[in-house]
Amino acid sequence: MTRNLLFLILAVSVVCAQNAQKPSSSDIQISARAKRIQESAIVVDTHADTPQRFLDEGYDIGSTDPNDVGHISLDKAKRGNLGAEFFSIWVEPETNQGHFAQHTFDLIDSVYQQAAHHPDRMMMAFSVADIERAHREHKLAACMGIEGGHSIENDMHLLRDYYRLGVRYMTLSWSNTNEWADSSGDIDDPKVQHHNGLTDFGKQVVVEMNRLGMMVDISHVADKTFWDAIATTKAPVIASHSSARALVDAPRNMTDDMLRAVAKNGGVVQVNFFNGFDDENFRKAMLAQQKDQGAAIQKYMDDLKAQGKPVNYVEVDRIEREWMAKIPRPPLSALIDHIDHIAKVAGVDHVGLGSDFDGVSGATPQGIDSAADLPKITQALLDRGYSAEDIRKILGGNLLRVFREVERVSREMQAAH
Ligand SMILES: [Zn+2]
Repeated sequence: MTRNLLFLILAVSVVCAQNAQKPSSSDIQISARAKRIQESAIVVDTHADTPQRFLDEGYDIGSTDPNDVGHISLDKAKRGNLGAEFFSIWVEPETNQGHFAQHTFDLIDSVYQQAAHHPDRMMMAFSVADIERAHREHKLAACMGIEGGHSIENDMHLLRDYYRLGVRYMTLSWSNTNEWADSSGDIDDPKVQHHNGLTDFGKQVVVEMNRLGMMVDISHVADKTFWDAIATTKAPVIASHSSARALVDAPRNMTDDMLRAVAKNGGVVQVNFFNGFDDENFRKAMLAQQKDQGAAIQKYMDDLKAQGKPVNYVEVDRIEREWMAKIPRPPLSALIDHIDHIAKVAGVDHVGLGSDFDGVSGATPQGIDSAADLPKITQALLDRGYSAEDIRKILGGNLLRVFREVERVSREMQAAH
């Protein structure tokens, strides 16, 4: 979401930034029981922005650099027993105007390239069966989800091509409203042409995703888009990286009514680890500094422009990290509260993990500095009285159930034609 923030800075002038990666106070001890649960689970995370790093920085997922502030590496994934990662294929909508599809393909390629470089430790995965096979072979299952319907350029053929390349979910909108789905990110902006949710074409996209077997992701969408998607879909939906609005009043978090609707639909809400969505104090501090931060980034970009140089997004990310690090990180309990709330409102079968790793400028709770820290979540859930079985559901079982059901609905729809 750093990148999400970048967009907001460009569009509205918002927040963010470094040093947030410094080890924090909470040194959580992982018990033998928590270790056993973690090791016996297929852990699935449904959102990491690492492909931006692959493409923009030439980052190698095999990196063991101790100074790297990134959340995801093969080494870190191994230490956290992360079984499957849905790599986010996110196309920044301002700077990629006119070539959304090209950039989508470039990002997809970057994931394949990483898997090709590390065949002994990582494999591309396109189905539940693939994820289970990767788990048996002790490899990271690399899945892909497109973040933002603008990637299909209003073209159903492109949607099908993305499916053929292995994309298994698509977020109907990112922070920008596209031509067929309203976003929560600009719903209050009168300059943006809105559609009152999903257009007729948008509804066709949802049904085609059902037919293909691509999960419908409702993170980021405007409330009306959510309700239209729920009314249209023939398969369970996911929120790949969303938290609870009852706890933190971010427009992109989900209301209790939405959580109950996802439960009724059989879907799953994967909790976002970003402090700005999980901790109200953090969110307020972020809003308070957004003007200054936006100005700092704007100045950086203006300076480059004056020199005739292209914007360096690695540098923008560094500036964002510096700003984020000015705000104290909340304790891990802030994140656990969201898991707990969703488990109570929607049920324990409808909650999971959607970290937003490598997309939040380092602004994760204390103790969560990378995928290696995932066992701390297991420990925290144990401490709150969750059973081993329920924890395994939260860690990945629920998502796999939904994915399997999406595959089944797809087969059924295809057989009917
Ligand atoms: Zn996002």
